[in-house]
Amino acid sequence: MARVLLDLNFPPSLHGELCEAVGLELEEAETGPFSMPLSAARRQRDRRMREMVLTAYEYQCAFCGYDGRIGAVPVGLEAAHVRWWAFDGPDDVENGLCLCSLHHKLFDKGVLGLGEGPAGGHRILVSQSFVGHSTAAREGVLVLAGRPLIGPQPGVRPIATAHRSWHTSQVFHGTPRPAASA
Ligand SMILES: [Zn+2]
Repeated sequence: MARVLLDLNFPPSLHGELCEAVGLELEEAETGPFSMPLSAARRQRDRRMREMVLTAYEYQCAFCGYDGRIGAVPVGLEAAHVRWWAFDGPDDVENGLCLCSLHHKLFDKGVLGLGEGPAGGHRILVSQSFVGHSTAAREGVLVLAGRPLIGPQPGVRPIATAHRSWHTSQVFHGTPRPAASA
């Protein structure tokens, strides 16, 4: 039951901490990508989505440009849904972003968002609710405010306005910070 509620209402990046918050222990096998039969169709779709999105963004985080790998295998890079799958977000490149693990989490938490950028592109929003004084918080997050998105590569459809608007109204926290000064 818990698994069904998680799948129907939240993106996978938030499942772990939600379980912790309510003192629920899901077995490792249940929280991993190969959980229960119910999600078989979804796993199939997710795999294609990941490949499409990572290729569209050339295996770089669209926010910071992170592109780590072990050998030939990307590590710490994920395909994020802009409009959550649990809220009818399609597994489509127009609804996807290639993000590093940190920025994926912050995007799903509403710390980071997407705004209209120059020439029909997108720029990065950072919520004023987010606070961090460390160099890591500054350089990893605050400095992104107002920066243009990295990618997608030419010829790939950018994020659809409807999905971006959904994220801004349903997930993003309050007011965006003004662009960080270069
Ligand atoms: Zn990143």
